[in-house]
Amino acid sequence: MLRRDLEQEVVGKRIKDIVVRPGTNAMKIIPKHGRRREFQDMLAGAKIEKVERIGKRLLLDLDNAHVLIINLGHSGRVVKTSASQTILPHTHIVANFTIGGQLRIIDPRLTSEVRITSDVEPETLRKELRDFDIDPLEDHFTWNSFSAILESKDTGLKDILEDESFIVGLGHLYSDEILWQAGLRFDRSSRHLSSQDVRRLYRALMELLQDVVKARGTSWGDDAFVDLLGNPGQFQLELKVWEQEGEACRRCRSTIVREPWGDAFTYLCAQCQS
Ligand SMILES: [Zn+2]
Repeated sequence: MLRRDLEQEVVGKRIKDIVVRPGTNAMKIIPKHGRRREFQDMLAGAKIEKVERIGKRLLLDLDNAHVLIINLGHSGRVVKTSASQTILPHTHIVANFTIGGQLRIIDPRLTSEVRITSDVEPETLRKELRDFDIDPLEDHFTWNSFSAILESKDTGLKDILEDESFIVGLGHLYSDEILWQAGLRFDRSSRHLSSQDVRRLYRALMELLQDVVKARGTSWGDDAFVDLLGNPGQFQLELKVWEQEGEACRRCRSTIVREPWGDAFTYLCAQCQS
């Protein structure tokens, strides 16, 4: 979604200048670059030719042979604004376009990483960045191949759905929603699922992602997600279990419960998830 929005909004635009904001926090999201100046100089004057997404990373191909790689982590946002719009707290990078408008990277918890690579063969770079098995929004994977990977892992289902080396982009909230939809408990082992269970899980995963895209994301909690133009998503209105403890399950009317999961929690209906 963000990739498509960026494609429409920034491809073909030229960066007039880019500012890594004062203070040490901004430097923390560009750890590969020791100096502000070096980072800024590599981008000034460059035109954005293409936007790609590989897993959680966005790649902006520039006409000066550099590639700007943005990994927004769990808390980063990229927004397009006018130059006159107030700069929000935690804004670390501001790019000005020659024809006006700005692209800003905001990250209150500093989990994002931005870097510039140059002189790397596109194929090599793409291979290096593809450190996961499945990108459910990009890859065509069948429930058969999904099943084979699940069987090879022998892990709890919630662990596996959140394992970024297996499948990218799910996280705590979506994994709980998928498991509710599939009627499976978070601690079921991935190795001992019936083929019907695997199909239900596969279908739940695909449907959830389509619904999230349709709703343009989920804006939940502090520093909630907003899209490139600053609009919140709507999927939080459709949550069935996530932070719904005490509510009635929409399928069986039992009470949704919360159980400890690592140092966080998982939400489920103990009645219809087994
Ligand atoms: Zn239920």
